[in-house]
Amino acid sequence: MKAIVTGGAGFIGSHLVDVLLENGHEVIAIDNLSTGWLKNLKKALKNPNFKFHEVDIRDKDKLLPLFEGVDLVFHLAALADIVPSIEKPRAYFETNVDGTFNVLEAAKKAQVKRFIYAASSSCYGLTNQLPTSENAEISPQYPYALTKYLGEELVMHFEKLYKIPSISLRFFNVYGPRSRTTGTYGAVFGVFLAQKLNNKPFTVVGDGSQTRDFTYVSDIVSALYTAALSDISGEIFNVGSSGHYSINKLVDLIKGDIVNIPKRPGEPDTTFADVSKIYKQLGWKAQISFEEGVKKLIDKIDDFKDAPVWNEKSIEIATKDWFKYLST
Ligand code: UDP
Repeated sequence: MKAIVTGGAGFIGSHLVDVLLENGHEVIAIDNLSTGWLKNLKKALKNPNFKFHEVDIRDKDKLLPLFEGVDLVFHLAALADIVPSIEKPRAYFETNVDGTFNVLEAAKKAQVKRFIYAASSSCYGLTNQLPTSENAEISPQYPYALTKYLGEELVMHFEKLYKIPSISLRFFNVYGPRSRTTGTYGAVFGVFLAQKLNNKPFTVVGDGSQTRDFTYVSDIVSALYTAALSDISGEIFNVGSSGHYSINKLVDLIKGDIVNIPKRPGEPDTTFADVSKIYKQLGWKAQISFEEGVKKLIDKIDDFKDAPVWNEKSIEIATKDWFKYLST
């Protein structure tokens, strides 16, 4: 089949591109390279079945012709991260909502066979329902969460109205090689691995007992691929690891000194996906244990050598708006 991956030079997108090519598909990756890297596509770029286009999903005119003859769309392009979304909500709306609209319109025109959307578990906010099922209350706490959720609503609307067979997958804390580390203060793995490489203490938020449903990137990619091959449509699925692991456990596994930093407002103590729906309907289940995933990542620790090294003070400055707006 011919597949398009938006955000194809990014963390999850580039792993998906590799798997699609390994399975003999023709693949087009679209990325504006704002946070993605061509180096993530080093292997793909050598494959004659692969094409890369540096295009921004906000640019609907450039997007349209790329979709000609496409069967599968994986829409992963988005602005990520919490803090910049609080600082620049419009940019998030334009890329994550309007951009998704553009991708959907292009997919509709091309009469694609399937559309898979990468959604975020952040839509559940501070839920009390643990494990969290897909019908838990939607309660986005910041513009990133809101705009990813609005994108999902658009996908489901197009599915119903224009009959584009679609699935939305709500990812829980994805980690693995190629996770983005540049720029803004971001996901804990990038922060901790750069600190480890530089013999600096891990900046543990609160007492480190909070847990996350950390899901290894190859499991996420297999969920995307499974969703694309199924003929189920109009459904939303959680994609999680079947467990949840504390920050203290992560510190135990990667070993090092710690420094505690203030608990962040508006952040859940636990995220934990109820994955029974995706298992029942798609037969998908995560395969990589937390220990195994962390070990694989440690083996690739050199990937993090150019990542910024955060400390108590620089995190305090970077998260100023987070504390300002999310404190109750
Ligand atoms: N975390 C931490 N130290 C850091 C960054 C994050 O202890 O420097 C913790 C944070 O409190 C949360 C978990 O790591 O419990 C995951 O945070 P991340 O920002 O990666 O993802 P989130 O779940 O907030 O979207």
